[in-house]
Amino acid sequence: SLEYPEITLGQLLDDAVSKCPDTLAMIFEDQKITYREFGDQVNRLAKGLFDLGVKKGERVALMGPNCPQWVVSFYALLKLGAIVVQTNPMYVERELAYQINDSGATTIIVFEPLYPRVQNVFHETTLQRVIAFNFIVPVKQTQDINSYDVLIRSDLISDVVEIDPVKDLAVLQYTGGTTGVSKGVMLTHRNLICNTIQNISWSFDIKYGEERILSILPLFHVYGMTNCVNYAVASASTQILLPRFEIDKVLEVIKNHKPTLFPGAPTIFMALNNHPRIAAYRENLAAIKVCNSGSAPLPLEVAQKFSEVTQGAGNLIEGYGLSEASPVTHSNPLDRPTRKGSIGIPFPDTDSVIMDMETGTRPLPVGEIGELCVRGPQVMSGYWNKPEETKETLRDGWLYTGDIAKMDKDGYFYIIDRKKDMIIAGGFNIYPRDIEEVLYEHPKVKEVVVAGIPDLYRGETTKAYIVLHENIEGTEEEFISFCRSKMAAYKVPRLIEFRKELPRSIVGKVLRRKLVEEETAKLQ
Ligand code: ATP
Repeated sequence: SLEYPEITLGQLLDDAVSKCPDTLAMIFEDQKITYREFGDQVNRLAKGLFDLGVKKGERVALMGPNCPQWVVSFYALLKLGAIVVQTNPMYVERELAYQINDSGATTIIVFEPLYPRVQNVFHETTLQRVIAFNFIVPVKQTQDINSYDVLIRSDLISDVVEIDPVKDLAVLQYTGGTTGVSKGVMLTHRNLICNTIQNISWSFDIKYGEERILSILPLFHVYGMTNCVNYAVASASTQILLPRFEIDKVLEVIKNHKPTLFPGAPTIFMALNNHPRIAAYRENLAAIKVCNSGSAPLPLEVAQKFSEVTQGAGNLIEGYGLSEASPVTHSNPLDRPTRKGSIGIPFPDTDSVIMDMETGTRPLPVGEIGELCVRGPQVMSGYWNKPEETKETLRDGWLYTGDIAKMDKDGYFYIIDRKKDMIIAGGFNIYPRDIEEVLYEHPKVKEVVVAGIPDLYRGETTKAYIVLHENIEGTEEEFISFCRSKMAAYKVPRLIEFRKELPRSIVGKVLRRKLVEEETAKLQ
């Protein structure tokens, strides 16, 4: 069992500032910010926000790309006891208005170039004030916009806000909506601190004040928030911030700053694998102690190829999590060989069982397939203003993840698929991931996703969307007969479509829902 200090995230930062004031907290383009400067900026912005009227318990939306201003705003809000509403910078107006009204946010801190979207929805939402930041030019104070650059020149905060780390919410983390309506996951300071400490305990040979984290995952996403931002603060590490994913830039940063930790997602590792000059960066990648992959299944081929290109240096391990658990609950341990295709074993202080899918109350034995359930200090207190959904998801202290999984005899877990993605065709249960793994073995396939699309006779039918490698051609029959030789007839996709790319969410999850919607629209 690990020890979790009963402190707030703001106090976690104070700790890093007092122990490692001269360590770099952030590197962003040519800027370098030490922990002393980071702490100072947070305390000034907190005072500025306090004087504007931002109070404890108030929901404040934060919308912008990875940059120091985002990180400073995040911690300033936490110091005030405000609840950060994590807002996706890609949201269109409709999505933005939904999230603001659902959370009841009164304030938004926004990256200035995104302000027009806020302006267009302002009057139909609960918003009362806007603060804008920009990392390219300072923001001018106007009648409608409070400038971040003015607020950051406030005095240091002296007003003490009492925050209870166990009860008080730190963040409303909206689920990505991959499978449905986006819900606000309520995470307390304690949830987030516990998951950060669990993550640190899982990494190997981490030295306080000496690590460098490549922060390329979007920070508004739960995975980036915990594994980049809070992880950095809890270990006084340096974050190397990148505002967007550009593969050449990522490689340049790896070369110049030699990160030691690299949390990523399968699409990021795929892009590295497919980069024509990746071999030249092998030595630079060698400083990395661990690459975590999460948020979506890591195809076996991708893991193997990454290990080849880095000559085993990258230490790519797969973990698993979800917004409702701050997010990480399982990971492959670093001190034992990774079990390919497995999400690993439960984190410290985390219980995990497979429940039968009919009643949801009977834990299943080794090897049987059911719903993955978890319990631990990182699990949310519920969904914001959604008591029904909360009751369905949190039962008898267990979080029902909505993922179908099994466990092997050594306690390793394997995700079969999402409950909602399971295809029922002609009465058979089909797991898209099963078929995808087979198609990934085909040398012409660069990317693939399988979805269940509506079918008059079979209820649903299986369709594979394939992206071929550059300058390669293929035929439908070729892939269908490949599948026939490798799987039971009922699983073989009936339809194949070639695409240039697949619709993906910002952390690289394939949006099956979008593909299914397209097919449904065709039928109408
Ligand atoms: P929503 O829950 O609204 O559909 P979302 O998918 O974006 O949105 P997240 O909390 O971001 O919600 O994602 C959690 C889900 O990601 C898990 O329930 C699981 O399906 C998937 N996932 C995460 N890690 C892995 C992994 N290693 N292997 C397979 N699936 C994974």
